[in-house]
Amino acid sequence: MIKLVLSDVDGTLTDNRRVFSTRAAEEIRKIQAHGITVSLVSGNVIPVMYSLRTYLGLSAPLFAENGGSMIADDITSFFSMEKPALFFDHLQNKGLARGILTNRWRLCSMGYDPTPGREREILALAGEFQVDITNSGFSWHILNQGQNKGFALLHLIKMFKLRPEEVLVIGDNLNDMPMFQESVKKAVPANAEPELKAKADYVSKLPYGDGASEILSSLDSF
Ligand code: CA
Repeated sequence: MIKLVLSDVDGTLTDNRRVFSTRAAEEIRKIQAHGITVSLVSGNVIPVMYSLRTYLGLSAPLFAENGGSMIADDITSFFSMEKPALFFDHLQNKGLARGILTNRWRLCSMGYDPTPGREREILALAGEFQVDITNSGFSWHILNQGQNKGFALLHLIKMFKLRPEEVLVIGDNLNDMPMFQESVKKAVPANAEPELKAKADYVSKLPYGDGASEILSSLDSF
């Protein structure tokens, strides 16, 4: 029986322009009312997750910055800004990337738009600066090593004292892969990347937020 759902936001609970699915929002509220813990994890920032938690009425902690920071009654940053900021400055000084709007609210990661054609150069430099690079399909992020959505998942499993088979994760893109590598239940909306579909227990018929709504309304089948 599923006791906790951890879902990605962009492309999973939204449409392809990041507009939140009202059907998914309704399902989230319904399953929480039935006693299932619902948490969200995103590459986005704490203020955005604070808003989602408040306005969706979620009681569990939510995770920002790909799992690196957490908002509950208080804000926790599990990682430091030092290495991501250092690498970002290097990219900017070399003309390889530009910052994104939400960087002013980040605690332990940096978002960037790569200069066209220089993407590989950035990836090649990351190891030297001891940082990880991930792409949500919506933006690129510089993270600390070990900072990923799998980290958030393991934190929740420990916090709520759950068995892996009591947890369902939902995601659509490669930055969700770290949580898909754990021995939990996995579901994806129809728009998900093939690598995630290959690992999923269930692929919804509909894409995006409507697909997530389909998944959330059939939790009994997991
Ligand atoms: Ca996503």
